[in-house]
Amino acid sequence: MPAVTEAARDPAERVQELRRQIRHHDRLYYELDAPEIPDADYDALVRELRALEDEYPDLRTPDSPTQRVGGAPSPAFAPVMHRVPMMSLDNAFDEAELQAWGARLQRRLTELGDGQRVHFVCELKIDGVAISLRYEHGELVQAATRGDGRVGEDVTANARVVRDIPDRLEGAPPVLEVRGEIYMPISVFERINKAQVEAGQRTYANPRNTAAGSLRQKDPSVTATRELSFWSYQLGEVQGGPAFATHHETLAWLRDLGFPVNPEITVLDDLPAVYEFCQRWEANRHSLPYEIDGVVVKVDELNVRDQLGSTSKAPRWAIAYKFPPEERTTLLKDIMVSIGRTGRATPFAVLEPVFVGGSTVGLATLHNEDQVREKDVRPGDIVIVRKAGEVIPEVVGPVLADRPKGLRRWTFPKRCPVCGTELVRLYGEADRRCPNEQCPARVAGAIEHFASRGAMDIEGLGEQRVRLFQQLGMVHDVADVYHLDYERLRSLEGFGDVSVANLRNAIEASKSRPLANLLVGLNIRHLGPAGAEALARHFGHLDRLLDASVEEIASVEGIGPVIAESVHEWFTNPANRRIVEKLRAAGVNFEGPRVEQAPQTLAGMSVVVTGTLANYSRERAEEVIKAHGGKAPGSVSTKTTALVVGEGPGAAKLTKARELGVPILDEAGFEHLLATGELP
Ligand code: NAD
Repeated sequence: MPAVTEAARDPAERVQELRRQIRHHDRLYYELDAPEIPDADYDALVRELRALEDEYPDLRTPDSPTQRVGGAPSPAFAPVMHRVPMMSLDNAFDEAELQAWGARLQRRLTELGDGQRVHFVCELKIDGVAISLRYEHGELVQAATRGDGRVGEDVTANARVVRDIPDRLEGAPPVLEVRGEIYMPISVFERINKAQVEAGQRTYANPRNTAAGSLRQKDPSVTATRELSFWSYQLGEVQGGPAFATHHETLAWLRDLGFPVNPEITVLDDLPAVYEFCQRWEANRHSLPYEIDGVVVKVDELNVRDQLGSTSKAPRWAIAYKFPPEERTTLLKDIMVSIGRTGRATPFAVLEPVFVGGSTVGLATLHNEDQVREKDVRPGDIVIVRKAGEVIPEVVGPVLADRPKGLRRWTFPKRCPVCGTELVRLYGEADRRCPNEQCPARVAGAIEHFASRGAMDIEGLGEQRVRLFQQLGMVHDVADVYHLDYERLRSLEGFGDVSVANLRNAIEASKSRPLANLLVGLNIRHLGPAGAEALARHFGHLDRLLDASVEEIASVEGIGPVIAESVHEWFTNPANRRIVEKLRAAGVNFEGPRVEQAPQTLAGMSVVVTGTLANYSRERAEEVIKAHGGKAPGSVSTKTTALVVGEGPGAAKLTKARELGVPILDEAGFEHLLATGELP
């Protein structure tokens, strides 16, 4: 943000410019529910304006965005006068600002001659849209948005279709206004966006704006399909209600009346504890099924609140501690394409590095060709980058208002950027692929995958080393991992005796991984860990799978025709056969679990095990049942062939088996059944 230089030029001019920009963004955000910049960028504009107004108080005017709430109510809705204004909140962006708020609070209380100790109620700052619900004699009569704080929009019909909002209350005073946040749960947001994609429509940017847009529909039946939710957190006008001394008592009363009150709300004694609460939720924000963008800290004692009062915009007794942004804007320098182990060509953004979501981001995924087209991001654009929690950073979209003239649409390269082979996009697939199986990028990806934890789990063989060995011509396929020249390795920079020995040990140890891990490691398209496990169980040895027909592979439970086809194709390819032979020569384990060669005596039977058996752990017993062709479900039903009972059986299973007349076997009976397929 070029705040200092701009301000130095002419503060009055800069103030005008900032107000113009802020009003523009307010309109997009509050009235159209379609912001074009992230909140962090908007907040930066407001902060700059506030700083200038603080420095040059003459420039402050009552209509400045720093002095008023929200945006103008839309004429599309009937206006509603708020008898008690709906305010905004002041923000604290770090610990120091939170402390400063606490200090201001103390100072005011001292000035007011009030030595009372205050408590703080910490509430999650729900990222939704504020609403005021008016009940008269227990009936919901009106629902209004915040609007500009004094006049809101009448959205009563729409609020009625929000399931969490009660229509009628028992034991409510004659007039009761309840305020809170309407929000869209993340699962609903994702479902709606999935449907948008399927319908070939543009996806929505985030749950907050989707919630606001859904609430401000002309047709309530549209709102009803959006499954909005609601948390209450405040009273508006009340006539004839009980008197409360604290905010937390108010919340308890609201809960008793039938309003949803967020269960995480906590009363704390001092600001260090408050800050700890903020930090805890900053770290855990993504564990919630809805979005939050901070913590609202409120003074609990209502008499103190009255004394503190409000500014024109926000109460002095509350502050919103805002989490660091997960969306920022930055320059998109270029779009490049990376090639993965299956040949998939993934476009990614090369960015002017930006600090977002807790780390500096220089690269972000663009997923696939269609997404780049849909988002229409172009090198040279200012783009919104999002990094939320552990999720990989992504480009949300361009800031169109900032697009320089003459930027050309980006087109997907025709050829693989690594090996030059023409990329292909198969019918019905979202991705382009490099079809060249010898493409160095594909080979490197395949070797990294082979060494990864879910496959052969070779510690110390990661991306960098694989690329290095490849460049040195030491590995050309996954089997070369077992033919490394360790003497040569020792002569390389960065490879001491210890690290070479560790790598060698890890590679040796990987030779005895189960067959399923090897199958995962072979990088066969469509074959995941569950499918690999099913194949290993069924075939018991890689050689049997090598010779199997597509039909036989497809007959394995859990293996569909697409996987079967892909597996069969992989093993009939001569180049892959050579890899298999190299692996065999290296002494890699090809055998599945021994029991898999068992006779199929339990085919069509369902055997439940309860209690501890002498010769089998529970898992082992279930494995053995499956290996003999049977099913091993967790509970007894009419379909159960027999219940096997060991020491300390579960009472429920035993009773159920007796009720249904299911045969009950001891361990010897179980072994008889396994051996003969007949009940003893
Ligand atoms: P705010 O969102 O910072 O805080 C006030 C609001 O918090 C309340 O009105 C209420 O709706 C909500 N809230 C959630 N949980 C609450 C709780 N437990 N208790 C009380 N209130 C709770 O302030 P604002 O005035 O609504 O909006 C300003 C913010 O909106 C900006 O900081 C910015 O992040 C965003 N904004 C973004 C753009 C943009 O273009 N991206 C434009 C305008 C505003």
